[in-house]
Amino acid sequence: MSGGEVAIGIDVGGTKIAAGLVEITSGRVLSMHRVPTEPEMGGEAVLRKCLDLAGRLAEEALAAGTCLAGVGVGVPELVSPEGSITSNQTIDWRDVPVAESFGRIAPAGVESDVRAAALAEARYGSGRKCYNFLYVTIGTGISCTLVQGGLPYRGARGNALVLASGKLTCWCERCGGFAVTVVEEFSSGPAIARRYADLTGDSAATSEKVLALAEAGNATARAVVVSAAELVGGAIGFAVNILDPEVVVIGGGLGTAGGTYWEHMVRSAREHIWSEQTRGLEILRSELGEHAGLIGAALVGWRAGRAHGVGHEEER
Ligand SMILES: [Zn+2]
Repeated sequence: MSGGEVAIGIDVGGTKIAAGLVEITSGRVLSMHRVPTEPEMGGEAVLRKCLDLAGRLAEEALAAGTCLAGVGVGVPELVSPEGSITSNQTIDWRDVPVAESFGRIAPAGVESDVRAAALAEARYGSGRKCYNFLYVTIGTGISCTLVQGGLPYRGARGNALVLASGKLTCWCERCGGFAVTVVEEFSSGPAIARRYADLTGDSAATSEKVLALAEAGNATARAVVVSAAELVGGAIGFAVNILDPEVVVIGGGLGTAGGTYWEHMVRSAREHIWSEQTRGLEILRSELGEHAGLIGAALVGWRAGRAHGVGHEEER
């Protein structure tokens, strides 16, 4: 008896790599391994770790009698429509033959992590009931992608995902000068930890701890969390004004943390949405949570397999 169709998903983050075997019909994670990324060891070393994980999972798939349709890799970088990695913010894989290396295991695809996660939300998660949604991920980094008909819009160069890494300039009424802000450097997880440390000298506090302190009523933590949420909410509202999505789906560790950050982010997003018709749109939390990136990477691999004529599962 042959089992169902599976794909390997590898979600490469700044601190850890999560790799798993995903059942395509259900999106269920059948097996998962986690290792530290250690990007400081260099692109080749990170690639070797990922290949080891993929090799182990391919053996597991074989032992389980499943049909391995492909292997997909999600990276926290810009990826061109042709699958070339074009930035080196976290891991330098610009001149490394990533897809080719995995191609020895199964048909392989590489995608930007936010688009991989959005693919998963579209097929199995919060985006499955709508044709069109804006997916925003907030964690170590902040980025977004517009999904239409189950597919993320890549843009001409694959760069249509930068929500918060570019500079924003506002004229300041109080001093008559210009205030330049980078939302990611103010509202992301590392930014919350750093801003709290700057105010208190507690450089050991993680963003999770600062969020917990804010919930417990610590005034400094609360000020940091509320301002971070208000600023990113403004950026989301701005994106909604331009794209007019049916709904917004928010993922990432910080984006799905709930509490003060969530409440102020959503309130601020609505405050920045100009049209009254749009302002009440649904803003949903990711249903797949921390596994969205891994499941999405597996879908990227499955899609690569389909392009090679492997697999039998229907495209949604
Ligand atoms: Zn000023």
